[in-house]
Amino acid sequence: MDILRTPEQMRDWADAHRVTRDRIGLVPTMGYLHEGHLSLLRVAAECGCDTIVASIFVNPSQFSYGEDYESYPRSEENDLAMLRKAEVSAVYLPSVKNMYTNLYQTHVEVEKVSKGLCGDQRPGHFRGVATVVAKLFLAVKPHVAVFGEKDYQQLAVVRAMVRDLDFGIKIVGAPIIREYDGLALSSRNIYLDREQRAAARCLSRGLFKAKALFERGIRKAMVLVSAAQQTIEDEPLATLEYAEGRDPVTLKLRYGAVDTITILVAAKIGSTRLIDNVTLK
Ligand code: AMP
Repeated sequence: MDILRTPEQMRDWADAHRVTRDRIGLVPTMGYLHEGHLSLLRVAAECGCDTIVASIFVNPSQFSYGEDYESYPRSEENDLAMLRKAEVSAVYLPSVKNMYTNLYQTHVEVEKVSKGLCGDQRPGHFRGVATVVAKLFLAVKPHVAVFGEKDYQQLAVVRAMVRDLDFGIKIVGAPIIREYDGLALSSRNIYLDREQRAAARCLSRGLFKAKALFERGIRKAMVLVSAAQQTIEDEPLATLEYAEGRDPVTLKLRYGAVDTITILVAAKIGSTRLIDNVTLK
């Protein structure tokens, strides 16, 4: 497993692998890896990628002032051991200094799908995400990149950027991996104490209630979204940020009767911000 620590090293490595006609798959992460991340590596392999690159970079430009950039969990040694075991070909681990020099002044702004949901709660977040993903794409030059549906709006932002800027990279969305009790895996779950961990189930519980209603034939967006919203509001340790029903592809708000809908929720449990979603169809 090769470890590349600068954009130059990464580009040289990618150029060498591109000429051998390898199909390169990229899985971008912020590290502190869990089974959700590992599932993306497997999806990349299933997409026919024979050369898989994982990147680990806690990107300061996607954290707002007062968010958890400093305290975000990091464990390089453990991550590298997990990636070695998963037999990835290379890990790209750039430093903040190498990614954002003192002269740095260029950003990628994806307009419509970055608005609303997490875009409203975290100003500048998707500008930071789009910018760093563009930089990763230019360094790694992948044929395919895999992102989790866990970060549903992020996936939509990346898809829009790749389409609009002609990156020519296939973007693949991978399903959400959950704990035994439904909680979506997240590096941030480590922040939760025992009581908060139990309370955090309200996000997935609410989404599963909406799913059960949908499966019983309920099609009114408001009824489905309310089921999720109410479940989170009923949890004393949770503070709801949003519960919304959106079109799975365009992310436009859905009202009235729907034959497909993505319900997205965000809530704080103590100071830990968690997101989750489900697509009903
Ligand atoms: P992160 O390290 O949290 O930035 O996540 C890196 C990638 O892993 C993103 O594409 C996430 O959507 C994806 N991811 C994180 N958690 C999960 C999960 N529970 N299931 C599937 N994908 C996930």
